[in-house]
Amino acid sequence: MTAPLAYRRILLKLSGEALMGSEDYGIDPKVIGRIAREIIEARDAGAEVALVIGGGNIFRGAGLAANGMDRVTGDQMGMLATVINALAMQDALEKLGAKVRVMSALKINDVCEGYIRRRAVRHLEKGRIAIFAAGTGNPFFTTDSGAALRAIEIEADLLLKATKVDGVYDKDPRKFPDARRFDTLTYDEVLNRGLEVMDTAAFALCRDSEVPLRIYDLSVPGNLMNILRGQNIGTLVQGRS
Ligand code: UDP
Repeated sequence: MTAPLAYRRILLKLSGEALMGSEDYGIDPKVIGRIAREIIEARDAGAEVALVIGGGNIFRGAGLAANGMDRVTGDQMGMLATVINALAMQDALEKLGAKVRVMSALKINDVCEGYIRRRAVRHLEKGRIAIFAAGTGNPFFTTDSGAALRAIEIEADLLLKATKVDGVYDKDPRKFPDARRFDTLTYDEVLNRGLEVMDTAAFALCRDSEVPLRIYDLSVPGNLMNILRGQNIGTLVQGRS
């Protein structure tokens, strides 16, 4: 018999860029396929898995606004980009036999369901993978905020933020060879040390609700399952000091 998982319900936040692989734009089918396999492995091991995927591989409102576009329109394009990524992930997961529901914070009923909390929880209980698209549904937010919000709403045991680095460091590890990685941090320590973990709005939500947050390296195969088995991979942020 395998050991029980350390977490029952998780919300995994992937940036849009995570889907690009080595491309400059869009989605690399090989990369999305590998991530999908890891997600299904987690679900098959008994975890309830919800996903939030960013849109930065396609559009970001702030970038569009910097080039002269109205910010709200740019953010709406960014949110629609997250729907595109969610549909791509739905397809990749379904090709591997998973049951998936995309739920959007913006109403696009011909494409996917709208987000309804109770229905989202029901999907998870039934073993479906729920992908929460369009962030919070509001401009001037990010999908990190969407992920924090949804994690709190569905009472996730853990919010996972998948990144390209293997945790939170005291300084940029790409610039400083002596940078030190933290195994654990409290929310107050992140604030007091001025560490960048998530944007301010997302961070405030996580801190106030005290949802445990783990930052880990998505590119290492097996990391997700090992985290679910209780291994201390990346950096865990939780509690107040
Ligand atoms: N966005 C938004 N409201 C939200 C979530 C996202 O307006 O609640 C827009 C915003 O323009 C953002 C873009 O969607 O830049 C893509 O999301 P994000 O930048 O979080 O993607 P990631 O960096 O994770 O790929």
